[in-house]
Amino acid sequence: MSERFVGERFSGSFTQQEPIPEAGIEAAMAVLRHGRLHRYNTVAGEIAETALLEEEFAAYVGAKYCLALASGGAAMACALRALQVKPGEPVLSNAFTLAPVPGAIASIGAKPVFVDVAEDLTIDLAHLEAQAKATGSTVLLLSHMRGHVCDMDALMAICDRLGVRVVEDCAHTMGAKWKGVPSGRHGVIGCYSTQTYKHLNSGEGGFLVTDDAELAARAVLLSGSYMLYARHRAAPALEVFEALKLEVPNVSSRMDNLRAAILRPQIGMLDDRRARWRALYQGMERGLAGAPGLKLIPRPQHEDYMGSSFQFLLPGWEPARVAAFVAAAAARGVELKWFGAAEPAGFTSRYAHWQYARPEALPQTDRVLAGLIDMRLPLTFLPEDVNQIARILSEESALAAKAAALGPVAAVSAD
Ligand SMILES: *Cc1c(COP(=O)(O)O)cnc(C)c1O
Repeated sequence: MSERFVGERFSGSFTQQEPIPEAGIEAAMAVLRHGRLHRYNTVAGEIAETALLEEEFAAYVGAKYCLALASGGAAMACALRALQVKPGEPVLSNAFTLAPVPGAIASIGAKPVFVDVAEDLTIDLAHLEAQAKATGSTVLLLSHMRGHVCDMDALMAICDRLGVRVVEDCAHTMGAKWKGVPSGRHGVIGCYSTQTYKHLNSGEGGFLVTDDAELAARAVLLSGSYMLYARHRAAPALEVFEALKLEVPNVSSRMDNLRAAILRPQIGMLDDRRARWRALYQGMERGLAGAPGLKLIPRPQHEDYMGSSFQFLLPGWEPARVAAFVAAAAARGVELKWFGAAEPAGFTSRYAHWQYARPEALPQTDRVLAGLIDMRLPLTFLPEDVNQIARILSEESALAAKAAALGPVAAVSAD
């Protein structure tokens, strides 16, 4: 065992969410007491919690139509099915995203085509254009990964010019805006997750929003509406369903009234959550400014982001040094995820690991991800927690810089 600096240790949890608001608990208890958990199980005159939730979320993002689903992944797969993506068809998507995104493409038998990540962690627009032209793909499943939103005007201009329809994966941007437009409202469909680690918490769940009546009707039918689509509220007119109801298969993936009851009171909290997350995020930015060897990600002014997680780069660090830094932080209670590790740990799998998609090598993405560190910023953190974490990381990066100046990588132990 080598002797090493032992400093303060962070004792908080990176995965502890806030409790469900009392109003959500009460509404959930009411659903449990009456027992009508299925969204179509209503008594005369009753509007299901799920239908109300859809109406309220549609209003929040300014969409005509909204469908609640069993998960964010189910929403993305439903979106691709509604767009009638065929088996074997190429679907463009980010090389830097999480596994449910290429998984949604693979779930309908289509082929993910990965697009490079840029230095600012957004999709590389030049590579997007090249991949779209090379494959002839007409659909982009765009992941606003970790809340970093690309130049949406430029992206939409490219996609409109090439006839590429955009489905936005807003798992990390629910509540965020770009030039004032809610995330998920640039493309033809926006998908969201209400899974515990996102911005609304119902354990599992998701939404799909669109202004396109036919796509909305297809999505409702796909989700498994048993010809009860008239009980939806944020849905198109019945004639739109009439024309499609015998053509569209049922791929059951509905949300239930219990989750909807838990979620409804949370929608009104999103803007406040954005402000609170922003304060934690900016505290971390201030605390890490000037830490040696560490590159922070610039945030454009017109990106009104949700700072629910924090990323930085360790550009040019050798893998052994990154591993040692992550281990040293962990020993002091700071849970970092590294997207460049040889083997995926937790959620950090990257495109090269998704072998079912037969990914081609992407050297630019490999270079960025090799030094990419990710950490959660749960709303249960206090400003002093963020300050302490930033102090620990600054100290450890200074130690790593000193070790790098002193000798070869082999001198730094990863355990
Ligand atoms: C969480 C997540 C999703 C959707 O996840 P579900 O667990 O299916 O709700 C989609 N995209 C990204 C980038 C995610 O992190």
